[in-house]
Amino acid sequence: MAPASASTAHERSFGTSGAVDGAAASREHVEPATTTAGLGTRSASLHYTPPVIAAIAGDIIGSVHERAHLKRMNFKLFQKNSRFTDDTVMTLAVADCLLHRRPYAATLRAYGRRYPDRGYGGMFRRWLASDDAGPYQSFGNGSAMRVSAVGYAYHRLGEVLDEARASAIVTHDHPEGIKGAQAIAAAVFLARKGSDKRAIKAYISDEFGYDLARHIKQIRRSYTFDVTCQGSVPEAIIAFLDSTDVESAIRLGISLGGDADTIGCMAGAVAQAYYTAVPQEMVDEVYARLTPDLTAVLDAFMERYKIRLDA
Ligand SMILES: [Mg+2]
Repeated sequence: MAPASASTAHERSFGTSGAVDGAAASREHVEPATTTAGLGTRSASLHYTPPVIAAIAGDIIGSVHERAHLKRMNFKLFQKNSRFTDDTVMTLAVADCLLHRRPYAATLRAYGRRYPDRGYGGMFRRWLASDDAGPYQSFGNGSAMRVSAVGYAYHRLGEVLDEARASAIVTHDHPEGIKGAQAIAAAVFLARKGSDKRAIKAYISDEFGYDLARHIKQIRRSYTFDVTCQGSVPEAIIAFLDSTDVESAIRLGISLGGDADTIGCMAGAVAQAYYTAVPQEMVDEVYARLTPDLTAVLDAFMERYKIRLDA
C-alpha cells in the first residue's frame, strides 16, 4: 500500500498547534466547520488525515476476525463483509461530545440506538435500552475502545486523564474500566505530542501498572478472547510498541486472536498518533464503509484537530 503522503514515520512535526490551540484550549462551544469535503478531496494529495481514522480502520479490519482465533499476521486487510462495529460508533460518539460539549451518557445512547446492531456487549445493550440507567461497574474494554479522540482534544495530560475518566464513568465506573480508558487516551496524547516509545511504555507501565515488558509474539501463543480492559488494553499498547507503522500495529493486535476489532481499534489509535501517516488505501476503505452521518463527525473532528502530514 502506498503511504498517504511523503511524511516519514518519525516526521511527527504536528504542525497542528494552531488548530488544536484555538479549538481545544478554550473548550468553548464551537460549531463544527462545514463539511464540504466529498470523497473527491481525499485523493493522494490529501495533506491531512483525520485523527482516529486508524482506530476506525482497526475496528473494521478486525470485525471479521472477532472470536476467530486468528493467530497470524498475513490476512487480507479489508474484506467484502468487513464493517464498522460498536468501537467505531462509540469512538465517533465521543468525538461528537468533544466537538459540541455534548453529555456523554445521552450521546452514547443516541448513537447506540441509531446503530443498534453493531456488536455491543450485553450489559451495554441493556444500558442503551434504558433512558436512565446509571453506570454498572463495568471493566469491559468498551471504555477504552471509544476514548481515542480524547487524546487529541487537550494540551495537558491531566486534562486528557480527567476527560477520559468522564467519558468512561457513565458506564464503566469500575477502577479498571476507568484505567483502561485513561491508558489509551494517555498513550494517544503522548504519542501525538512526540514522546518516543520508551517514554510511552514507561509512563503507561508506571501509571497504570500494566505489564508492557512482553511482546506480541509471546503473548499470542496463549492469548484467548478477553473483553476486559486489563486483559486487552495492555496487549493493544504492546501491539503498538512492537509495530513499525499503523498497518503493522493493527495486524499485530488482530493476530492475537482475541477481541480483534477492539484490539485493532485501540492499537490503531495509538499507532496513528505516533506515526501520523495512514495508508491512503486504508483511509479510502474506511470512508467507503462509513455512513454519511458518521463521516460528517469524522470530518468535523478533522477540521478541528487536524493532523497535517506535510507540515
Ligand atoms: Mg466491536
